Amino acid sequence: MTTRREFLIGTGAGLTALGVTQAMGARLAGAQPVGQGAGSRMPLVDRIVPPGEGLGRKPLVVSTWRHGLPANEAAWKVIADGGRALDAVEAGVRVPEADPEVMSVGYGGRPDREGHVTLDACIMDEHGQAGAVAFLENIMHPISVARKVMELTPHVMLVGEGARRFAVAQGFPEQDLLTDKARTEWREWLKSSEYKPWTPPTDPRSTSSAKPSASGNHDTISMLAIDADGNLSGACTTSGLAYKMHGRVGDSPIIGAALFVDNEVGAACATGIGEEVMKTLGSFLIVELMRQGATPQEACEEGIARIRHRHRDDDLSQVQVAYLAIDRHGNVGAYDIQPWFQYAITDAEGGTRLVDSDSYLKKK
Ligand code: ASP
Repeated sequence: MTTRREFLIGTGAGLTALGVTQAMGARLAGAQPVGQGAGSRMPLVDRIVPPGEGLGRKPLVVSTWRHGLPANEAAWKVIADGGRALDAVEAGVRVPEADPEVMSVGYGGRPDREGHVTLDACIMDEHGQAGAVAFLENIMHPISVARKVMELTPHVMLVGEGARRFAVAQGFPEQDLLTDKARTEWREWLKSSEYKPWTPPTDPRSTSSAKPSASGNHDTISMLAIDADGNLSGACTTSGLAYKMHGRVGDSPIIGAALFVDNEVGAACATGIGEEVMKTLGSFLIVELMRQGATPQEACEEGIARIRHRHRDDDLSQVQVAYLAIDRHGNVGAYDIQPWFQYAITDAEGGTRLVDSDSYLKKK
């Protein structure tokens, strides 16, 4: 049976309806697409990513939560100077990493239950290269260590003591990342030691300050960017869930879970309870769904559906995951379970602003 897509592709009108240019048309007619081997059964990107809303909104930076606002500004400086998306996302997420008021990322992050601030991060570039660190202590900028792992080692991920030693050998300064504020909160928590991976926040949308508070006890920054050359990169960095078990590593350093970038398709990233994201490999899933024709929005909603289906509906009030995705044209999608995910977006037309995501559970 001929599908609508096959029918459209077989006709000139179809090509126009799909927004396909002449050059793309030649590729659709049988030429081998960039980056795909002969005989590949993977559909062509140009065939399937609809040129919808947001086309031309490139360059572009998006990132998770309110602390994404200053992070996007730093990233945008790089992009506006004609820099590479990879440099932009690294520069961007270094802002909350260094900010002690952001108690879910880098310096000032909430510790594990034994009082250790342990950091997870990963980065991925337009060539599909990736680097990550996990369970890293005493280094303020895990994202930059992750980049060094990507660029200087034959590996993708270093963890714990090995990651720390590598960072020190690369000249990263060591310092205690536990601030007085985080230590005081942790000591208070120790009195009950009641652990919940996720605690509902006070409504973050009613706050006007740039202070983070959006997801209660954790708030990773994940950032995606497209530069002026149309290349994509992404970064993700976190101190993870507050009061986690010592040694716990979440989704944030796992390529394909909290972050995935495919320059020919798009990129996706996550924040929320990492265990949920890891079990469904959310970011890879979302990029693959976009490859098969889903818009970034549809793909994020499907990513959340995979998590929802693993839980009873009355369970969901305890689960929070948010996805943010872009396709290579600059279309943006976002979706989460709870009704309070926000993301920062920066482009030339609109500057930097905070956007409320749609969610599965609605605000009461
Ligand atoms: N995903 C992070 C983790 O599980 C936490 C977060 O994004 O809020 O470590």
